[in-house]
Amino acid sequence: MEGTAKTTQALVSEYNRSSVLEYLYHNGVCSRAQLADALSLTPAALTKISARLLDTGIIEETGGIVGRKNRRSIGLRFASERLHVIGVKFARSLVQIGVFDLKGTPLSVTDLPDVTDETIPDAVRGVHETVGILLAQDPNVIAIGMAVPGPYLRTVGRTALVSSMQGWRRVNFLREFGGAFRVPVFVEQDARAGVLAQSLFSESADASNLAYYLLGEGVGLGVIDHGELINGAQGAATEIGHVSIDVNGRPCDCGNVGCLERYCSAVAIHHDLVEDGTIVPGAASMSHRKACMELFKASDEGDEAAQSMVESIGRFVGFGCVTIINAYNPDVIVLGDIVSHGGDRLLAAARRVVDERVLPELNDSTDIHLSDLPEDATILGAAAVAIDRFLDHPSDFLALGA
Ligand SMILES: [Zn+2]
Repeated sequence: MEGTAKTTQALVSEYNRSSVLEYLYHNGVCSRAQLADALSLTPAALTKISARLLDTGIIEETGGIVGRKNRRSIGLRFASERLHVIGVKFARSLVQIGVFDLKGTPLSVTDLPDVTDETIPDAVRGVHETVGILLAQDPNVIAIGMAVPGPYLRTVGRTALVSSMQGWRRVNFLREFGGAFRVPVFVEQDARAGVLAQSLFSESADASNLAYYLLGEGVGLGVIDHGELINGAQGAATEIGHVSIDVNGRPCDCGNVGCLERYCSAVAIHHDLVEDGTIVPGAASMSHRKACMELFKASDEGDEAAQSMVESIGRFVGFGCVTIINAYNPDVIVLGDIVSHGGDRLLAAARRVVDERVLPELNDSTDIHLSDLPEDATILGAAAVAIDRFLDHPSDFLALGA
């Protein structure tokens, strides 16, 4: 019984420390009294928790701030610059590695050479080497987050399918990297990593029901429902890219037919551009990203054929939004990654589909917008996987005692 009581006490302490850190993380400088109020902790408990956290350096005291009843009091702030994480983004042909502070500020970002199905083992070796060097250079790194294409089987550590680049299926990320470094490694499906990044770093952070609609080389979705990530039994839930929008449509590597990913991923758009041959001349020799960016540039410059193609892609993106709203009823859907660079024209076309096909009450209460995070939101997402873990379980990373 005593053991159970101790365990419970330890869990409560950890929960309280996590709450204090998260509150300071999202709300900036606060006094102890404000924190105690906001988190329903006694002043004595708050003093004890903050003393432990101050000892580790992860929070620090600031000069006097004006608190309740205009009394001056000492402020506490989250020292996000003190500790760092490494984020590793695995896309199909692109592997990026970045070092970030705990607010997601990039300190360095490295692109590994473009990956093909044949060079995946080289890319894996490259990650070992580069991360090893970064860890040796920076003693403040406390964890590594990895974002991998879905559907990702979280308990197994492997991606179940990477359409158009099946070689990634042979990499077991947990086995390959789990114990490879001096700090822990956390792996998450890329769109789930993306929604964590939105919730930690973006203006949409207040939304506790948030969907991140990843429109990159693949199409994915990460959903936070009432503050919790939706994973499914094996971690392969919310795979919007493999929801069919046409039962007689284009076949997909997953076995389904008419998968959304086959119409509005960067890979699908690139394929259509090569087939078309005129909107983006020379598309065949470009990367998926480059071909898409050329299309969007032509559209922005007034090319009517390009504009019409962007609108058609936007409609497909909109079909996905309809499914997302009906399946998860989020407050906010954030469109991100390569295809979101289709911009306002693409967004407007997606919204028109939603206006036509979604119940008015649901449509009115759902905000759909483009990501306001920088270009490489997925690598930021990889960092967010590690930061989220740190905020949830601080004593796994800091010497906090029992
Ligand atoms: Zn599919």
